[in-house]
Amino acid sequence: MKKNELLLIGTHNDGKFREISKLISKKIKKISPKSLKIKAPRETGKTFRSNSELKANYFYKKSKLISLSDDSGLEISVLKKKPGIYSARWAKRSGSFKKAMLKILKKIKDKKNRRARFICSLSIKLNKKKIITSIGIVDGNISYKMLGNKGFGYDPIFIPKNSKLSFGQISTSKKMKIDHRSRAFKKLKNKLKFNKFFI
Ligand code: IMP
Repeated sequence: MKKNELLLIGTHNDGKFREISKLISKKIKKISPKSLKIKAPRETGKTFRSNSELKANYFYKKSKLISLSDDSGLEISVLKKKPGIYSARWAKRSGSFKKAMLKILKKIKDKKNRRARFICSLSIKLNKKKIITSIGIVDGNISYKMLGNKGFGYDPIFIPKNSKLSFGQISTSKKMKIDHRSRAFKKLKNKLKFNKFFI
């Protein structure tokens, strides 16, 4: 992208908007769909990839700006990969993220297998014809109680592999070194470089 060119970061989630913005060069101006009064599309895809592509396509069509969108969520092994693509919807249905986390902790309270992973699919719609997607994953375990109040969403119950602290207990800058979103972003950046395109 050229200096001062606008990039639309296609999310209505303020936490995500902040974290994605921090991954992108300061030289690029970022804009949110909220500030353009563009509503969120319905997430009708069955996979993280189909949802991130659906969102990037939609925001590009609405704004005519290069649009970057993600779809992400938490997969818990003993819950057959749930909440998965329904992570945001589970929280909405439960009333809050805190309630959704407490529900999960209760559901798996006797389970030894605490394995879980965060997944992020990141898509950028560059022009009418071209869309590029990358997937990032961070493996870890579900804690036995909520830990910390940093980050957003399910961060307080997710302990990444090789760490004693949950995502809710570490700073955003530390989280961003290892999380699913930055991993997807690194891959996306390489693919973009290959296409002689920089963000
Ligand atoms: P969506 O991608 O907007 O459908 O929402 C993904 C949902 O997954 C978020 O609302 C959170 O519930 C959860 N999620 C995704 N990434 C993270 C993260 O880094 N920390 C905590 N929760 C996350």
